[in-house]
Amino acid sequence: MSEGMLIASYIGASILFILSLGGLSHQETAQRGNLYGVIGMALAILVTILSDQVSAYGLLLTMVITGLVIGKWLASRVEMTQMPELIAVLHSFVGMAAVLVGLSSSLSGAEFASHAEKIIHEVEIFLGIFIGGVTFTGSIVAFGKLRGSISSTPLTLPGRHLLNLSLIISSFILGVFFISASPETALILLLIMTVLSFILGFHLVMAIGGADMPVVISMLNSYSGWAAAATGFMLSNDLLIIVGALVGSSGAILSYIMCRAMNRSFVSVILGGFGAKKVSSTSTDEAPKEHIVIHAEEVADILAHADSVIIVPGYGMAVAQAQNTVSEITRYLKDKGVTVRFGIHPVAGRLPGHMNVLLAEARVPYDIVLEMDELNDDFPETDVVLVIGANDTVNPAAAEDEGSPIYGMPVLEVWKATTTVVLKRSMATGYAGVDNPLFYKENTRMLFGDANDTMSAVMTALKSN
Ligand code: NDP
Repeated sequence: MSEGMLIASYIGASILFILSLGGLSHQETAQRGNLYGVIGMALAILVTILSDQVSAYGLLLTMVITGLVIGKWLASRVEMTQMPELIAVLHSFVGMAAVLVGLSSSLSGAEFASHAEKIIHEVEIFLGIFIGGVTFTGSIVAFGKLRGSISSTPLTLPGRHLLNLSLIISSFILGVFFISASPETALILLLIMTVLSFILGFHLVMAIGGADMPVVISMLNSYSGWAAAATGFMLSNDLLIIVGALVGSSGAILSYIMCRAMNRSFVSVILGGFGAKKVSSTSTDEAPKEHIVIHAEEVADILAHADSVIIVPGYGMAVAQAQNTVSEITRYLKDKGVTVRFGIHPVAGRLPGHMNVLLAEARVPYDIVLEMDELNDDFPETDVVLVIGANDTVNPAAAEDEGSPIYGMPVLEVWKATTTVVLKRSMATGYAGVDNPLFYKENTRMLFGDANDTMSAVMTALKSN
């Protein structure tokens, strides 16, 4: 394939990736966005395979088929709730790929037209391996924390910021020596820096608490993008540079949006330590806390007499796979003339957009699925709120209790409705491990059980009403 054709195809693929990102920003266009992405990636892979630089077709075919089989097997097995773990593992692959490409680029002993070009190439190698190394171990720790195989409590070693700083400074010094070193010494310096970057990635994410993991995942997404861009520079591959920059910047923007949704500053998330100490509540209300239990038939009765209902789903709806039953109840109530809307918190569930995907899968119309900011003022005029497996994202302590570890996080103010029904299995805390005063409010009713079972019981009761 001619160089001109290759460049034209890469530009075409880049445009498709940009259209894909644009499409993914709205539910209505997400499917189309996905399709653009798939076509762009297929085009990119095809023209790269047909380019003059590629000749080992046998090896390539074996690797592509192996990747396809593993990818298909993983994608068909993974549950929606395990998606963040899968994303973390995939980021670790990108990180490791950047490290390996960097090492092989350094070993290739390529010739350069000028000394300046050689230095630029070496800086690219060094940065690519450094970012790749941090992404690799950081993603593995994030995977372990999300899976529960590593404790979600932040590891707060004494002088941990100093340790991080010294790892960064040592890597920088090694980089300065690397540029002027002989090939043998350069490889040793590169390997030492690789180990330091592994330690830095490991330690950085170990110090971050479970409640901040969503931000960490999107931050690692951003790192993996920059690692890919650095790899693109090393390989002089324009498409990889563009795609890396798209992933890097969109990951950074998402991290910023999520920090805002959790009222956390980006720097405080990166520095870690959040949630290490149990912060005692400043609330002076020491009265014994009691909750009021409700049964499915009573919930059906309240719903049947309501004019307006808001459903607030959370992680528990994903665990219970209750979205189809929830959708069925929504249709039933709408047919009876009840106004039903959904309120989605930006970090509800275990990944951004988790709830939107589940509701779209259950064919809930997009126009009744609203963002937190779009309907937070409407709770006082709402008759019934159904909180389905949500906990941290509806915790009034975030708005009212300055002593709470999640104080300041914007939440859905469900307690302002006439009646709030909380569906969960027990009085257990949510992901952040913080007690929820919502459960003890006068207008709150607790409907215990697996959300799919209780929602099915409500549906049955509604039909027999
Ligand atoms: P939470 O994790 O706060 O709470 C989920 C609740 O669901 C639990 O209290 C649990 O209570 C209940 N539950 C679990 N299984 C079931 C079931 N089968 N049936 C009924 N209820 C069930 O959920 P939220 O969505 O409100 O908040 C998300 C939290 O996760 C936030 O702290 C956020 O920061 C964090 N997070 C978010 C990510 C994102 O990007 N969205 C990624 C990673 C973390 P019980 O055990 O009693 O049933």
